[in-house]
Amino acid sequence: MRMHEPILLKNMLQPGYTGSLADYERTGGYQALRKVLGKVAPAEVTAMVTKSGLRGRGGAGFPTGIKWGFLPKDYQGPRYLCCNADESEPGTFKDRQLMERDPHQVLEGIAIASYAIGSETSYIYIRGEFALGAAILERAIREARTAGYLGKNIWGTGITVEIYVHRGAGAYICGEETALLESLEGKRGLPRVKPPFPATHGLYGRPTVVNNVETLANLPHIINRGPEWFAAIGSPPKSTGTRVFCVSGHVQRPGNYEVPMGITFRELIYGQAGGMRSDKPLKAFIPGGASAPFLTPDHLDVKMDFESVAQAGSMLGSGGVTVMEEGTSMVWAALRLMEFFYHESCGKCTPCREGSSWLTQTLRRILDKRGRMEDLETLADLCKNIAGRTVCAFGDAEVAPILSTLQYWRHEYEDLIRETKSLGLPGVSELVM
Ligand code: NAD
Repeated sequence: MRMHEPILLKNMLQPGYTGSLADYERTGGYQALRKVLGKVAPAEVTAMVTKSGLRGRGGAGFPTGIKWGFLPKDYQGPRYLCCNADESEPGTFKDRQLMERDPHQVLEGIAIASYAIGSETSYIYIRGEFALGAAILERAIREARTAGYLGKNIWGTGITVEIYVHRGAGAYICGEETALLESLEGKRGLPRVKPPFPATHGLYGRPTVVNNVETLANLPHIINRGPEWFAAIGSPPKSTGTRVFCVSGHVQRPGNYEVPMGITFRELIYGQAGGMRSDKPLKAFIPGGASAPFLTPDHLDVKMDFESVAQAGSMLGSGGVTVMEEGTSMVWAALRLMEFFYHESCGKCTPCREGSSWLTQTLRRILDKRGRMEDLETLADLCKNIAGRTVCAFGDAEVAPILSTLQYWRHEYEDLIRETKSLGLPGVSELVM
């Protein structure tokens, strides 16, 4: 697969690039905003984004231009744009880098999207733990306001775009778009039932678009270089552009790599990330954040585009690729993720609230060599009764590690239950909840 020069990480890869407004302007920053604001009709900007094929980079991959197009055309009253910067999916750390290292790229994207959908007040809902990112964004907003790129009546066009940073309080569920909106409204972050979607009933009941940081950061480039240019990158027609994949785990060079969509997992893991960290071969990998089912070495040649990964039985999700070497206990790996989901379940839906506890306890029992063969049926049954039965996608996510490890490594569960194998794992009491 032909590589493509980085688009989103390009600036920050330059030696000495600080992410200041002056640095950003030197690389052509805010030219895209100048090109469209008050000059290109908002509907036309939306049409350009639709034509580019840009799909959401938060996880679901929904087409961005189409999402904007869902906003009611004749609505009299405020509309809102919320930039979802609550990046919390285990193994995912790209938005953080984009915000910390090139904040104006994100702000320009937000300003363009705000103009396209008619949002005068836009928010960045940033994960509470990202204190540095929040401070960097606040400073960048001040710089952009002073320079006239943001604020009221920008360049005398009559167009207003104000951006505010709102820090979350450390709850994974607040990355779910409707929980994010509840939290932004000052309430406890619990997901709402969809439909209605935020497009019609969002922040304060008004039409709202929620877009991920990386999605928005692509916009200046689509405007500057044209939708056709973007649509030709990656794996057209359905997975266009690049993705910033976050590689973690047992590789030589963990980190963020921006590559065109459609390269294979093998190219990413063995090329960009330098291969395995030791002579132990790859045993498993999670292709798109903790919500994505595990895959095996047989899937290394699957193309990293939305469709191919779905066909392989998983999803590209948030772009977090976690690599595990031979010797990793897959039951233990499933438990680690399950503990995360158990801790983060917001408690609104019974299947998720109760089920996450039962799943965690059952996995612990198996790892503690107190399991029974019937436990495997119990696990599968619990998963069946959680997936698709919750208000948000959390339910589907939490069963993914268990169902996929049961699918590919059932023998490890059985071995533990038969106590034929000693894994030398810490005792259950030592595993942190
Ligand atoms: P979703 O498919 O329900 O929605 C995707 C987007 O499209 C939403 O903005 C939704 O409002 C919009 N949409 C869908 N249908 C619509 C319609 N008919 N009308 C108007 N708008 C419509 O998915 P989701 O629940 O938003 O996201 C789930 C994904 O989030 C998971 O797949 C996971 O990969 C990802 N995730 C990411 C992180 C992270 O940190 N980046 C964390 C957890 C989960």
